[in-house]
Amino acid sequence: MKPRVMIVEDEQALNLLLRYNLESEGFEVDIVDRGDEAELRIAEAVPDLVILDWMLPGVSGIEICRRLRARSETKHLPVLMLTARGEESERVRGLDTGADDYVVKPFSLPELLARVHALLRRSNPEQTMKVLVAGDIELDREKKRVHRGGRELHLGPTEFRLLEFLMVSPGRVFTREQLLDSVWGREAYIDERTVDVHVGRLRKALSRGREIDPIRTVRGSGYSFNEQFAKAS
Ligand code: CA
Repeated sequence: MKPRVMIVEDEQALNLLLRYNLESEGFEVDIVDRGDEAELRIAEAVPDLVILDWMLPGVSGIEICRRLRARSETKHLPVLMLTARGEESERVRGLDTGADDYVVKPFSLPELLARVHALLRRSNPEQTMKVLVAGDIELDREKKRVHRGGRELHLGPTEFRLLEFLMVSPGRVFTREQLLDSVWGREAYIDERTVDVHVGRLRKALSRGREIDPIRTVRGSGYSFNEQFAKAS
């Protein structure tokens, strides 16, 4: 599920710019241009993060923030405040508005995006994909369990980490050396052929000899999780 970001801002040009950039970063974006409307929309469905302008028609950003903090459902909702230079900046700087972070307009887009990502990671680490799904394979990163077609598969810890690593970047080809570094750790002094052994075990556990093999061997390069397979979910 895509993380949902609500933008509460009355500057249309800025909204378009933010929408375009957040959507291309994989967020679902909801735009509201009035403070009072934002409150209604949040009450209907709480987003994962709010980008909130300070000066708004209806209810001000600071007031919305205060009200969000007062309600149990939105008490911990991450809020990134937007403020114009000089505009009550002392209070924003002190963050006694209840906002988690703020940026001063005009801001740089990469900076804003970085803050959005940081806030989401901080507030809701499990949001960063607790369960990876590809085709009929489901990998639960917290419970350390893998299911295929609803049936649980029993993988060794190395096979689990290997699968998790490959599933995060479908289509990307990793060399044996990269896999050793990422799955076994840099400290491990293991022969690269060990990778082949574990990939073999993983394949066996995944396909049980009958089902489609989601792992691709790229001759002369390494391994990757089949992108077509991942898309078929
Ligand atoms: Ca404004």
